[in-house]
Amino acid sequence: MYCPYCGYHDSKVIDSRGVNNGIRRRRECLSCHSRFTTYERVQPGSLFVIKKDGRREEFNLDKLLGGIRKACEKRPLPIGSVDKLAGDIEAELYRLGKAEIPGTVIGDMVMAGLKNLDYIAYIRFASVYRDFADITALKQEVDTLVDSDVEVSRPAGQLPLLPTEQSGVAAKRQRRSRK
Ligand SMILES: [Zn+2]
Repeated sequence: MYCPYCGYHDSKVIDSRGVNNGIRRRRECLSCHSRFTTYERVQPGSLFVIKKDGRREEFNLDKLLGGIRKACEKRPLPIGSVDKLAGDIEAELYRLGKAEIPGTVIGDMVMAGLKNLDYIAYIRFASVYRDFADITALKQEVDTLVDSDVEVSRPAGQLPLLPTEQSGVAAKRQRRSRK
């Protein structure tokens, strides 16, 4: 810890006490004898995700990225937007300062992020994440989306979800089946 006054590399601790989940140390520079305070905080080396079945799995940014990328596949999104979303979510998770986070919290963050980014990607992710039992449940989610005020704030250039979106999906399905 360098002295903030003279930059000297060594100091002695003259007082230390626990604060919240860290330690506060009062230090004195060995060179200029100025006093300053440092805080030591526990940073969990790893963040664990609590899965639906209760098992813990270490948080993995690549896995998060993979899930988001899959949902955004072939969508006309600005370069870097997927990485930014994953990075933002990761930062938010660490900001929470918890050692364990329910997977549903992360899933909800992705849902919220995709909702702002791209409707199709959002629906794709939702269909996997929410584990829609059938097309009716999926349609209900789509209807909710259409009814919500999100429609108004749709980013420019994004395809409308319904009714033209349906034909878009149908066209895509046809294209896919032709392969
Ligand atoms: Zn000093």
